[in-house]
Amino acid sequence: MAESTIRIAIIGGGLAGMTLAAGLTKIPHVDAQVYEAARDIAGNHGGSYTFNSTTQRSFERVIPSVQELLRRAGAVPNKSSRFISGLGPDMGTVIFDNWTTEPAPACLRRSRLLSEIITQIPEETIHTGKKLVTISSNGDGVEANFEDGTKGQFDAVIGADGIFGNVRKYVLGDTVADKYAAKPSGFWDIRVLQPYEKAKALLGEENFELDRQYVWIGGGSCILHDVLEDRTLVQCMICSVEAESPKDRRHHLTREYLMEILSDWAGNPVAKGMIDLILDCKRPYGYSQWEHRETPTYSNGRICIIGDAAHATSSFHGFGAGTSIEDAMVLKALFNNISSPNEIEAAFKAFDSVRRERSQRVVNSSREIGEICLGRHSEPDKFRRALAPKLAFIDAIDYEEHEKEAINKMREILKSQLSN
Ligand SMILES: Cc1cc2nc3c(=O)[nH]c(=O)nc-3n(C[C@H](O)[C@H](O)[C@H](O)COP(=O)(O)OP(=O)(O)OC[C@H]3O[C@@H](n4cnc5c(N)ncnc54)[C@H](O)[C@@H]3O)c2cc1C
Repeated sequence: MAESTIRIAIIGGGLAGMTLAAGLTKIPHVDAQVYEAARDIAGNHGGSYTFNSTTQRSFERVIPSVQELLRRAGAVPNKSSRFISGLGPDMGTVIFDNWTTEPAPACLRRSRLLSEIITQIPEETIHTGKKLVTISSNGDGVEANFEDGTKGQFDAVIGADGIFGNVRKYVLGDTVADKYAAKPSGFWDIRVLQPYEKAKALLGEENFELDRQYVWIGGGSCILHDVLEDRTLVQCMICSVEAESPKDRRHHLTREYLMEILSDWAGNPVAKGMIDLILDCKRPYGYSQWEHRETPTYSNGRICIIGDAAHATSSFHGFGAGTSIEDAMVLKALFNNISSPNEIEAAFKAFDSVRRERSQRVVNSSREIGEICLGRHSEPDKFRRALAPKLAFIDAIDYEEHEKEAINKMREILKSQLSN
């Protein structure tokens, strides 16, 4: 590769931005700088992830030592993601086990994961307390302006600034940004982390004989629990349908309300235990799950969006983070194959071309899975037949081919630019 340095600003130090930075850092001709609005990248964010084997494969293409990194982050390999009937005459019947391939699904906390990814990136390239306010394209590339009055000139800007990020409107254009803004997907959830022993006592010892993700479904709601943080914590979640689009994404939850939505689950001790675990936290708030129903492009000139900024999704595939890591993987492959800022626009166009269809399929399919899981029926056979085909495409991808497709597309675009 040529010696010239390509200067990239990554806006947002969440999973997408930090994974991309870890990948680009390894490319000598790329200088990637991360700008994060928060003061602390890892913070004490309570969120957690489950990475299936496919996500771990894409992660490994960005950070080859990822298995060691996941171990250091306290990830717990869960045996599978087990769907079980939560109510009625079939209560307790296993519908099926998903994510049974190796490596086993790894459950871990977002804050621990980010703390480990940071170790892969030069400290001086991470800038915290830097909130992007505006971007403008100019003859030399892109200027980024931050809330603290500082600015920077870059060859390109990559928005990894999350579902309500700022960069998206510069990619889509002000006039249509509202049309393609995130909207309610029709579901809400609450997730809390509780000590392992306490969760085991309330949810039943038999559900902890193996580390496993359990998804209890039926009657318009689902209950999920899995083991993480070196087996010291359990993620506890209730998810349900949203009758109407709320004005506010957040709503306070009461025992009466949770008992009402799980009223059909009265005979299931997991439901009672889960309500107790959920309410035993400082702020029992349910959050509406929002999504990007449509996004006409992920790139505009030297500006591009990745992760939740591009394709925020509801949680039912458990693959929002997986899609974000795939984005980082493909951009790393593209930047490895360019040598000059003049090729960035073609790289971003190729990224949009190969990534958008799959990412949008995840968004749409996740909503459809939610509609199946949170439907009114609970017959195991019916669920199995409806769900199983929806899950397969996530794992049916050859990442080497996916990267090659992006690189070939970029070369095609560059060639056609030369001939014009
Ligand atoms: C509760 C929950 C559980 C989930 N569980 C899973 C799971 O098990 N498996 C899975 O695959 N996916 C899961 N997901 C989805 C996953 O969390 C997201 O898809 C993923 O975290 C997206 O990462 P991101 O970096 O794109 O966005 P974010 O994590 O939102 O990061 C965006 C970053 O940008 C920063 N930022 C925003 N605006 C600016 C600005 N103007 N200037 C500078 N910085 C800015 C923010 O502070 C933030 O740090 C879950 C989501 C939620 C909400």
